[in-house]
Amino acid sequence: MKLHLDSPSTPATRYWLGGRLPLGLAGLLFLLLLGLSELLLQQVQQRREDEQRQQVSSQAGELRARLLNELNGTLHLATGLAAYLQSRNGEIDEAALQPWIEGLTTQSRHIRNIALAPDNRISYVYPLAGNEGALGLYYPDNPQQWPAVQRTIASRQPVLDGPITLRQGGQGLAYRVPVFLRDGRYWGLISTVIDIPSLLRELPEAARSMQLEIALFSRPEPDSGTPMLGSAAWLAQAHSQLQLPVPGGQWLLLARSTEPASGAVSMVWLRLLAWSLSLVIGGLLALMLRAAQQQERARQALDESRQRFAQAFVTAPQGMALLTPQGRWLAVNQQLCHLLGRSASELQQSDLLSLVAASEQAQASQHLQAAQAQPQQWESRLLDAFGQTIDCQLGAAWVEGQPPCLILQCQDIREQKRIERLKSEFVATVSHELRTPLTSISGALGLVVNGALGEVPASMAEMLRIADQNSQRLTLLINDLLDMEKLEAGKMPFNPRRCSLAAQLREALSSLQAYAEPLGVQLCLQGANDVMVEVDPLRLQQVLANLLSNAAKFSPAGAQVTLGWQVTGDSVRVSVCDHGPGISEAFQAQIFHKFAQADASTTRQQGGTGLGLAICRRLIEHMHGRIGFDSTPGQGSTFWFELACQPLPATAEDSPHA
Ligand code: ADP
Repeated sequence: MKLHLDSPSTPATRYWLGGRLPLGLAGLLFLLLLGLSELLLQQVQQRREDEQRQQVSSQAGELRARLLNELNGTLHLATGLAAYLQSRNGEIDEAALQPWIEGLTTQSRHIRNIALAPDNRISYVYPLAGNEGALGLYYPDNPQQWPAVQRTIASRQPVLDGPITLRQGGQGLAYRVPVFLRDGRYWGLISTVIDIPSLLRELPEAARSMQLEIALFSRPEPDSGTPMLGSAAWLAQAHSQLQLPVPGGQWLLLARSTEPASGAVSMVWLRLLAWSLSLVIGGLLALMLRAAQQQERARQALDESRQRFAQAFVTAPQGMALLTPQGRWLAVNQQLCHLLGRSASELQQSDLLSLVAASEQAQASQHLQAAQAQPQQWESRLLDAFGQTIDCQLGAAWVEGQPPCLILQCQDIREQKRIERLKSEFVATVSHELRTPLTSISGALGLVVNGALGEVPASMAEMLRIADQNSQRLTLLINDLLDMEKLEAGKMPFNPRRCSLAAQLREALSSLQAYAEPLGVQLCLQGANDVMVEVDPLRLQQVLANLLSNAAKFSPAGAQVTLGWQVTGDSVRVSVCDHGPGISEAFQAQIFHKFAQADASTTRQQGGTGLGLAICRRLIEHMHGRIGFDSTPGQGSTFWFELACQPLPATAEDSPHA
């Protein structure tokens, strides 16, 4: 049989769960979750921005299409005029041209004027009103426009230039179409001036309806120059940049959404949520790990305590065992095996009670039962493998667990018993040998002191009285010692018989009167309903005499000592109540031990051997009773004993005294 213990956790586990790693792990998880959620949020934000960009781009595309539509519609008109001039070989017939150009300008509401500049000099302007300033303009003389005009002629393609400051006042876009005659000769230019405010008038409104802000540059790149439309302040935040192909160049349309950044608010909430979630998950993990850590520590502590217990169990200098509540062996240590001369496996076949001497089995069984409620200690004789009895001091206590069991301690007390026996025998022999000469000394002294042999000279009287008193004390002590020895050796004769309790108490009281009177103590009897008790009257008188003499001895003069009895069911309690000093708490536990006296000086003052109560206890227990006391230090004591009793037979004459 062995004690099985779970293997303790490995050092690695201890390091994992015992160190600061759990908190670090939780922190790491928190940071990881935070990073992940941030990554996710950024993706969501990116997607939202992309969507917004796409939406802005498609709306800006619509605006671009509208603008190009307006512009191209206007420019195509001028292209038709160039073809007309080619067909006329450059000849200008004002009368024929007038209604035609008039028609052109009314077709497009954005044309401010159309000018014909044969050989680069404007010779015809329609309408003339408001544009008189342009008439006669010779481009080579105009340093602002001439470089662009030169590029137009060189490219032989129409070019939209501007915005330019018009000679006739204001600003406009100049759409210049170089005209080359059929023979390839350069004829001159057709310049159509487009009114910028008119061309762009509807664009801001259309953009607003789409919740857009736009800026239009007449260049392909947004440089430091002022845009034709809108502001250049937000270029960096533009959601969309669209190129507009115009004759001879590119325009740039920038757009951004003016919608309030509702996404940004929700992103703040989302971020907050993600952080909180990370914190909660991290916190939960930390709590879980902490709980696991505490569990692990508790397990470690349990492991250690189990190991300590197992070690104590195995190495204990006395026999140790674990028993089922019925007394079957669960585990035994080497010491017990050695003591009983049996192997662990042999013991496993039996139980404790089968190894207890037959006469003590009932008592051992009772102790095992009682040990389930509170620890028990008792003496038993156990049988070893060779049938020898071993005096043992047994102790049993209940151990909660799975399954619950009893822990048994078994101490070999054979040597102790042997020494006690030797001591008792020695005391008995000495006492016996002393008693005979002491009786004759005491008797002789009694005769001398009492004057039976003649008058005692005054000079000797005091010494003789002291010698007489001490010889009586010595006789008392020797009688007590011999009684004790007889009781312990089981040699005290007991002659039990049924007798009236009240009669016994009356007898004891009257015997003690002579002792109490000189002390000034009054003895009285109190009780009702006499009962029959099965006792040895001699031994009962001995107990009563001891209790009454103690009570009288420790009472102050003039005090009362009450001898009483009380019947409860089939038992009677006899009590001796005094108003003496009581029993100090420190002394209460030993009062029934042999030679126990509260204070040595008391012995000298009051006399006594310290054996009286120890003898009383053994006598009462021999008569199957129980003895005890109640005392309040300083206020007196009540010594009592309980015996089984029966009602008086109907014919009984005894009547109680009160
Ligand atoms: P003793 O012969 O010394 O009286 P006992 O065994 O009868 O021996 O008593 C032991 C001790 O108990 C006494 O010495 C005393 O200290 C204490 N004792 C006994 N009875 C009383 C009592 N009624 N009041 C106070 N102390 C008592």
